[in-house]
Amino acid sequence: MPQNPDAFTRLINALKILPNVGPKSAQRMAYQLLQHSRSGAQELAEALQHALKQVHHCTRCNTFCEGGLCDICADQNRDPRRLMIVHMPADVSGMEAANCHDGLYFVLMGQVNPAQGMDLSHIALDKLVERLQNSEVEEIIIATNFTAEGDATAYVLSELFKNLPYKVSRLARGIPLGGELEYVDAGTLAQAVYERKMLKE
Ligand SMILES: [Zn+2]
Repeated sequence: MPQNPDAFTRLINALKILPNVGPKSAQRMAYQLLQHSRSGAQELAEALQHALKQVHHCTRCNTFCEGGLCDICADQNRDPRRLMIVHMPADVSGMEAANCHDGLYFVLMGQVNPAQGMDLSHIALDKLVERLQNSEVEEIIIATNFTAEGDATAYVLSELFKNLPYKVSRLARGIPLGGELEYVDAGTLAQAVYERKMLKE
């Protein structure tokens, strides 16, 4: 790669940071943006700039939000005794749509990859520990995916809570093996929450 790529190449390289976007797709996107969607490209650039400035992590649950606390953490009607731990903000949306959890959430913003040596730097464990200090939490519901990464993350979490005074449960395996919560329908999700399996009383 040259030290100072031309503008078109720079855009292609920038687009390659998106998930599942290789050189070919990045090239097609760059072409589309500059050839057919110049006003859309302008809006994309502005929205990205705006989001970078405005969107931060909720100081309590770590999800994306504008301002200090997200709407769910700020809601006095939620039950602070039950904390559900999920991978991504999309999982919170899924749970809310399924209407099966009236407690609070913690968003790890990632998962542990057992194929890459169980690197814990992709999940916000320190923030989670901090969140639990002086909290009213009694039960922790581990709602990670039913994939190798989700299982590894659940294992790390259950080890973390082993000697701490919480009830710990994990979603029931009503969800198909290899299932990412993001793609599970609301009914199945709700069932997995109601039938959650106690790991520690
Ligand atoms: Zn929050």
